[in-house]
Amino acid sequence: MHNRTLAELAQALRAKHCSSEELTRHFLQRIQQHDGQLNSFITVTEEAALTAARAADQRLARGEAGPLSGIPFAQKDIFCTQGVKTSCGSKMLDNFIAPYDATVVSKLNEAGVVMLGKTNMDEFAMGSSNETSFYGAVKNPWDTAAVPGGSSGGSAAAVAARLVPAASGTDTGGSIRQPAALCGITGIKPTYGRVSRYGMIAFASSLDQAGPMARSAEDCALLLTAMSGFDARDSTSVDRPVPDYSATLNQDIAGLKIGLPKEYFGAGLDPRVAAAVEAAIAEYKKLGAEVVDISLPNTALAVPTYYVVAPAEASSNLARYDGVRFGYRCDAPKDLLDLYKRSRGEGFGAEVKRRIMIGTYVLSAGYYDAYYLKAQQLRQLISDDFKQAFEQVDVIMGPASPTAAFNIGEKMDDPVTMYLSDIYTIAVNMAGLPGMSLPAGFVGQRPVGLQLIGNYFDEARLLNIAHRYQQVTDWHARCPRGFE
Ligand code: GLN
Repeated sequence: MHNRTLAELAQALRAKHCSSEELTRHFLQRIQQHDGQLNSFITVTEEAALTAARAADQRLARGEAGPLSGIPFAQKDIFCTQGVKTSCGSKMLDNFIAPYDATVVSKLNEAGVVMLGKTNMDEFAMGSSNETSFYGAVKNPWDTAAVPGGSSGGSAAAVAARLVPAASGTDTGGSIRQPAALCGITGIKPTYGRVSRYGMIAFASSLDQAGPMARSAEDCALLLTAMSGFDARDSTSVDRPVPDYSATLNQDIAGLKIGLPKEYFGAGLDPRVAAAVEAAIAEYKKLGAEVVDISLPNTALAVPTYYVVAPAEASSNLARYDGVRFGYRCDAPKDLLDLYKRSRGEGFGAEVKRRIMIGTYVLSAGYYDAYYLKAQQLRQLISDDFKQAFEQVDVIMGPASPTAAFNIGEKMDDPVTMYLSDIYTIAVNMAGLPGMSLPAGFVGQRPVGLQLIGNYFDEARLLNIAHRYQQVTDWHARCPRGFE
């Protein structure tokens, strides 16, 4: 049951080959059996899941089912879920029960999903390895000595190990694509504004975007159709019709122009990852695509620019955690200042504090022009690179990550090396473009992800291009040993 795609599960439910309650019990059982090894969930909402599954079964019986009715799903613990703990991976919110649902959550609930629980993540989504979580590191199901990537590492590990058929993720600088790559699953970060950020705990508001993480492009298409759309409660949400992303999956891609940026294949890229990506490109040529060499000359500026813009926005967004209104509060504060200092000092982890300090520094009066303003200008140059590239090509391809999964502990003492794991993903967020990662081979037993970058609102085309590849390859169908 757990090896089936979402479309197959939906079909099985409609044909009454199984009930949503059976399906839900099956996946809950898998979580119980395997998650001790992986630590991919922070909260499992067993009772609520069974209640939702029974309700879905009734709707299915009455023929009122939505496209995802009765299908088990997990939400990254960054999305507010009414009545359920929403921790964002932080001690700061360990006691926080969200009073309302994020739009992503309510939209998916309306489409019929049954939420099994909330997945582990880097604290406030800051990280590339899922080691900054207050709830402990997540392990990669392909090799439990390895990280699953971050920050949506809990979602990626849970989907790869078939503890849940699909999950949500968020991507500020790579947090859907990089863990999808490292865990051998498929994930898409849509165009900025495509999916509402309402109720999604803010990290860097001008970069944050939610998207689905599943085993295939076909499954991502079903989910993205349900998640997307205008929301008056998010002022950056774009009012533009949502296509049925499943409808165009099978379009022919003959004549497709693929741009290969030379900067994505240079120093720092593991040659074994490069070989897997090149083999995938060769597969696309067989499908009739044409390859064009391109350049994104400002690529090297993306990581340094991001580490000014993202911390600046984070320092402002995280100012709300003051020990007063909600979240962690220190014991016996002696006065207001002590309350602020100790609540924040004790509630936040080291990486979050580092970002708040960088952000506060770059926004301070004497340094604003030198750092923050400069970074905004560079951000424009990075976007212009893509604009020019999309005048020549339909899609850009390259690796999602310079290496396959690294070992737990390997980069934790060296933040700059850790930051460089997002070297191929961050520019996409700076420009607000859609990007995706799909499984394209292995380095030893650790998966490699192929990244596709599209023009604004070209999600349908990205999913189509990914699906065509998945019809002729089986990387996305491989299952880590021990989780069959
Ligand atoms: N790894 C990047 C960071 O640490 C991106 C995180 C994300 O996309 N949420 O900021």
